[in-house]
Amino acid sequence: MTDILPSSPAASVVNAPRRYRFATEVVTVDNSDDPHNAASVPIYQTATFKQKGATASGEYDYSRSGNPTRTHVENHLAKIMGAERALVVTSGMGALDVITRLVRSGEEIIAGDDLYGGTNRLLSFLAKSQNVKTHHIDTTKSDSILPYLSDKTRLVLLESPTNPLIKITDIPTISKYVHERCPNALVVVDNTMMSPYLQRPLELGADISYHSGTKYLSGHHDLMAGVIGAKTASVGDELYYVINATGCGLSPFDSWLLLRGVKTLAVRMDKQQASCVRIADYLEAQGFKVHFPGLLSHPQYELHKSMSSGPGAVLSFETGDTGISERIVEGTKLWSISVSFGCVNSLISMPCRMSHASIPAHIRAERSLPEDLIRLCVGIEDVEDLLEDLEQALTIAGALPTPSK
Ligand SMILES: *Cc1c(COP(=O)(O)O)cnc(C)c1O
Repeated sequence: MTDILPSSPAASVVNAPRRYRFATEVVTVDNSDDPHNAASVPIYQTATFKQKGATASGEYDYSRSGNPTRTHVENHLAKIMGAERALVVTSGMGALDVITRLVRSGEEIIAGDDLYGGTNRLLSFLAKSQNVKTHHIDTTKSDSILPYLSDKTRLVLLESPTNPLIKITDIPTISKYVHERCPNALVVVDNTMMSPYLQRPLELGADISYHSGTKYLSGHHDLMAGVIGAKTASVGDELYYVINATGCGLSPFDSWLLLRGVKTLAVRMDKQQASCVRIADYLEAQGFKVHFPGLLSHPQYELHKSMSSGPGAVLSFETGDTGISERIVEGTKLWSISVSFGCVNSLISMPCRMSHASIPAHIRAERSLPEDLIRLCVGIEDVEDLLEDLEQALTIAGALPTPSK
């Protein structure tokens, strides 16, 4: 990790004489270049910047190319992601769009088989419109990538844990395979489920890590953003070129909101994760099949632990019956029925009906995505209230024995 982080296009100097632990770093934003010593980075709500002369150009000229509020959030995120350069765009899918523009027609992508629904949609679009083929592999078996690695491979797109089946990918092993065999390929990790607090893929061997900033990084479901971190300056420059060329850089106001939200990432995640562990234990004790990397029963418990500092705050469980699952989801009062996760409020959903409905049913079946699966995304409410609400919904749905009065 370097102390001086390049930004887009002008660097605000990052003075980092010493590094602190994550929870300290994430709340400590360097704003030492502010002319009025503002404690909070101001919103530079401007499209253009006046220049000193016809030929003298200042740090900024036009907000599509660069804006001080965006630069601050990018420098701050680079620091907490361990990236040489971070870039912020208008959504998580926008981030993936920028990354996939590094792929040329005829080149190939290798990706997991339990991907975020929107990622699948974008990859299908690339196959049809750009002649970019994607091979889907079971990333829980690292060796399954070997037959597909070739001189055509440009991107290897991984998630860990996957969502909603919570499968774990061995990022160091797969990165090693890719870098040994395909010097031209980039390992890209969608780290949205973990956030940089719990897992930093660039330290595990990935070349690019990206996040939906809509989720944990901002934390309040009040903005959409995408965050890309590049391990090297040259990849960072290529990505910046695409962002400036296509105009998807994050707006000043949303950059400010993201910077405001991310400061509480560690404290939110600690609380959400602790509650999620309680809820996972409760559901497992009731006899449900629970998918959560914090449970000893998870088949890849050790692998997850070796890459990250916690299991996160998203779990899924099976009830064995779609009707029961629907009644549970509709029977909760505190848990909002909503797609997405990473918000301070708790959410419940049925992935096959909601976030993953864009994946055709036969492919869901092929990838053994159970139709009755329920996903819980735990917020910061009191965990006793969350457990009570869940229990009454399970009881109403007939998923638990009715208590005898
Ligand atoms: C939400 C999400 C995305 C897409 O991000 P948006 O901000 O909604 O565009 C990508 N990957 C994962 C894992 C997500 O959860």
